[in-house]
Amino acid sequence: MVIKCVCLESDAYMVCLTHALSTEREEVMGLLIGEIDENRISHISAVIMLQRSDKQADRVEISPEQLSDASTKAERMAKELCRPMRVLGWYHSHPHITVWPSHVDVQTQAMYQMMDEGFVGLIFSVFNEDKSTKLNRIEVTCFQSIDQAMEDYPPQYVRKEVPFYIEPSKGIGRACMDSLVQLPRILCQEETEAFCKTTNGTDLDLITKLHNVSVYTKSLCHITEVMSGPLIQALENRLETNRSRIQTLQARKLHIEKQLKETAEINKDNIRQISCNNTHNTEDNIRQITSNNTHNTEDNIRQITSNNTHTTEDNTSQIKINNAQSREDNIRQIMSNNAHNTEVNIRQITSNSTHNTEDNNRQITSNSTHNTEDNTVTGQYRGQINK
Ligand SMILES: [Zn+2]
Repeated sequence: MVIKCVCLESDAYMVCLTHALSTEREEVMGLLIGEIDENRISHISAVIMLQRSDKQADRVEISPEQLSDASTKAERMAKELCRPMRVLGWYHSHPHITVWPSHVDVQTQAMYQMMDEGFVGLIFSVFNEDKSTKLNRIEVTCFQSIDQAMEDYPPQYVRKEVPFYIEPSKGIGRACMDSLVQLPRILCQEETEAFCKTTNGTDLDLITKLHNVSVYTKSLCHITEVMSGPLIQALENRLETNRSRIQTLQARKLHIEKQLKETAEINKDNIRQISCNNTHNTEDNIRQITSNNTHNTEDNIRQITSNNTHTTEDNTSQIKINNAQSREDNIRQIMSNNAHNTEVNIRQITSNSTHNTEDNNRQITSNSTHNTEDNTVTGQYRGQINK
């Protein structure tokens, strides 16, 4: 993957720079560990310092074993941090020379890029004193190699600068701290190996042996003086700073806790006041509602009583009127019926009387006639018996 730019975390930058400043006689080198994000930005967050197998002023080499060890270490870090960490590049120092990569550097970089297209190289130019101001200048560059040869021609590599940024980090990460504390040990080991080479299998005279031992002792003292001592001092300073920050943070914590307590107290008071107001309002409301209810009930009762009284009076007067009306109607009806009945009775009696008189007359006449006839018949018969 072709990368856009490189972001180096400030603690990783500090480790690289400390390593580069550890010696001004030879170049030092190490590997850069990190991850590439989806925007093709290379984030470097850890550094592995490498022990040099052969000290040379103008070149450095990484052995295949060192590269393999670094990959294993990156895998272990990836597991610990749960992030896709891997070896993303290498760095080396240029003491007393320009920051630009040498021809050998460009060739070495091209070889790494054949294995990983996104592999980058960092160069730290150190111990460059400005002649006029006498100030030490440190320069850093990030580069890759590109092949400029025509097709079918042998490769011709040139450097290509890669945009490079230093990202601030909150503190020293565990990986960077481990690398930093290993630096004096690496330097001592390199010195010991160089000294052992002079004693192995060579028959040197006593003066030369004494000289070599003196150089070795002086080198170890130099490492202690320029590396271990300042490193311990720097770490102690950082520890002191951290202690002071802890004190400040604890004071802030106490202050915040006090504020929280006060706020809680105010809240409690507010809740109490609100509860009191609510209770008071509720009581007032209940009292008002009860009063309204009582008033309404009384009004209703009064209204109902009034309505009832009015209705009763109305009903009574209506009943009285109805009764009077009914009585008059009844009297009128009875009188009318009586008159009618009297007339009918008179008419009936008259009719009956007439009829009876006629019947009586007819009966009397009949009886008289019959009696006369009877009387007549009896007289005749009797006269015959007398003969
Ligand atoms: Zn170089």
